[in-house]
Amino acid sequence: VSRKRVYGTEAIVIRRRDQGEADRVITLCTPMGKLEGIAKGVRKARSRNKGHLELFVHSKVSLARSRSSWDVITQADTVSPHQPLRGDLVRGTYARYAAELYDRFVAAGEGGPALFELMQRMMGYLCQEERLSLLTRAFEQRLLTMVGFRTELDRCVGERAGGLCNRELVGGRSEPFGLDPERGGALCPDCFRAGQALRNVIPLSPAALILMKACQRESFTHLRRRSTSEPLMAELERAARHYITYHLERDVRSGAFLRQLQREGRTDPAQRG
Ligand SMILES: [Zn+2]
Repeated sequence: VSRKRVYGTEAIVIRRRDQGEADRVITLCTPMGKLEGIAKGVRKARSRNKGHLELFVHSKVSLARSRSSWDVITQADTVSPHQPLRGDLVRGTYARYAAELYDRFVAAGEGGPALFELMQRMMGYLCQEERLSLLTRAFEQRLLTMVGFRTELDRCVGERAGGLCNRELVGGRSEPFGLDPERGGALCPDCFRAGQALRNVIPLSPAALILMKACQRESFTHLRRRSTSEPLMAELERAARHYITYHLERDVRSGAFLRQLQREGRTDPAQRG
């Protein structure tokens, strides 16, 4: 890693919050990972960087390292303004959701070029595509995979008699499959029937399983040619929300546990033994 005092990167503005009188702390999705930088004076009318650091803009930014607080964003130049994401309420809402998902699943300093590219393409698509819900489902599956929470949709994640079921999950059956976020994937109809009383397990229709698999691996140009129905899209959204909420809450809980350990001094190697 270069330790030059000033460094440059491409970035997408994910979040902004006001700081002090005229500054703003900007969260950036970059090929180097998630970064926070402070843009000084950016809320003043005459700020040169202002328009280049609007929400969802893809910019080239220069930052100066700071040992005391945030790195300082010294310069920003727009690559793609993604104007529709600020001018159109619906497109903007989808963009906010995508940005929030990145922000919550990716810790500061983590993430890399693949996540940046995913976000860049997502923002571009959101400016012009019509099938925003389907696009968002595909974005979710890809993001989950990249941050280590891939949804297993090819083999049953159920357990039977102490072993993994591992049965191949293929459509063509009419009984519902299941989705089990705790085990990280889908259940075959038999395991779903046997385990549907378990907490956190929800049904997944065969059509929803097939579409979710497609969201995981098909390019969007292929995916958008698929015919879907409103109820199917609604089911897919519920299933994704269920899966994602489970993992985000577990994360929050593990974060709370970690903080508790830190208070007790149990994660500081210097204090061990
Ligand atoms: Zn099974």
